[in-house]
Amino acid sequence: MTYQNYSQEQLRAIDNAHHLHPFTDHKDLREAGTRVVVRADGPFVYDSDGNEILDGMAGLWCVNAGYGRDELVEVAAEQMRELPYYNSFFRCTTPTPSLLAQKLAQIAPDHINQVFYGSSGSEANDTALRLVRHYWALEGRPEKNIVISRKWAYHGSTIAATSLGGMEAMHEQLYGAVPNIRHVMCPYFYGDAKAGESEHDFGLRAARAVEDAILEAGADNVAAFIGEPVQGAGGVKIAPASYWPEIQRICRKYDVLLMLDEVITGYGRSGEWFAAQSMDIKPDTITTAKGLTSGYQPLSALLVGDRIAETLVEKGGEFYHGYTYSGHPVACAVALKNLEIMEREGLIERVRDDTGPYLGEALRQGVGDHPLVGEVRSFGLLAAIEIVRDKQSRERFEPVGSAPNVIRDHAIASGLMMRAVTDTMILSPPLIWTRETIDMAVERVRKALDGAMAELS
Ligand code: PMP
Repeated sequence: MTYQNYSQEQLRAIDNAHHLHPFTDHKDLREAGTRVVVRADGPFVYDSDGNEILDGMAGLWCVNAGYGRDELVEVAAEQMRELPYYNSFFRCTTPTPSLLAQKLAQIAPDHINQVFYGSSGSEANDTALRLVRHYWALEGRPEKNIVISRKWAYHGSTIAATSLGGMEAMHEQLYGAVPNIRHVMCPYFYGDAKAGESEHDFGLRAARAVEDAILEAGADNVAAFIGEPVQGAGGVKIAPASYWPEIQRICRKYDVLLMLDEVITGYGRSGEWFAAQSMDIKPDTITTAKGLTSGYQPLSALLVGDRIAETLVEKGGEFYHGYTYSGHPVACAVALKNLEIMEREGLIERVRDDTGPYLGEALRQGVGDHPLVGEVRSFGLLAAIEIVRDKQSRERFEPVGSAPNVIRDHAIASGLMMRAVTDTMILSPPLIWTRETIDMAVERVRKALDGAMAELS
């Protein structure tokens, strides 16, 4: 690799001079310097200082099959040699996107049988938004175009995806959101329940905020509700069990389409192929990306339910939408192989029956009693730790996010990559983690909390 001719200092200086990073305060980064990650294997990443770090975030919630998968490298090289690129416009296709679409139709819920490709989750959500609005227009109801979303939702960074998302800071920098998107409360029991409110009642209240928004807009004007089964980047906010059945009841009652964003929860993280299956949700669209290729190639797939697909095919004419890399043959070849690996190694069953429950239990046992920990929650291989100054009163540290950033730095120094989201620490590891890997991670989380405690008090 040519980068090996450069020293670490040179690489950092070059990065500082030219590279604008995503979601970054550049002045701060340029003062602090960046970490250069140079290789990875199994559950570990290695930086240019030679540190071995257990990757508790699977890259960015995406490396589901873990690092160092030669099979994925080989299938990509083979496809590149044979046919590195051809498009699927103009009545053409290449073999791998067709085969992948067939495979996705097999593993998706029964009523979902069509796939539209992009390269990122953001693009897939742009497609989803256009598609649901187009669906209602084709059905002769173009006024039915308001989409209800939630605070703290993350649906991506394009203008449409940011508009769909519920991140205040991102909206402040939008300078003109896509119109007709409304946001309601999210089901964040730990943070937002009233004193004495049961989890069940809170879940119903949060779902009924969607109903209120539909009634306020007029059901004839509402196209769809969009939600992540578990809000990921918003802080691994897991809805109470009463929430999703009530959301479905409401969507059916008012004939509002249900769009599920499974960019994080898809491809095994929930313990099933999709959280729709774990949670018994019947969505009209499922947005997927990330784990589809385990991050080895950029690829997203919007899974489209029969109701929308039939209208699009039968009444739609040409759908004026698509990307150069929709159905990229190399990315689709890698996805096919990646799904094959997951099946062959039983990674999803392992999350469902073993490592998923074990991660939650090990974290609760290992750090639940720590003075900085307000709550531990988990869903499949997703976990969150609420950080508080005071366990009883749930008082937080000021300013928001300051303590979790300190904990994250200690975690990395202890050899564990984890993420801090406002006042919450997040884990979203590769599905290859075993009980031993989880034990190692929990020990490092504890060490990070202890280290941060000494610094914060
Ligand atoms: N939806 C969800 C739920 C996500 O978590 C993300 C990315 N973290 C996206 C959409 C956007 O995906 P991408 O970054 O690939 O555009």
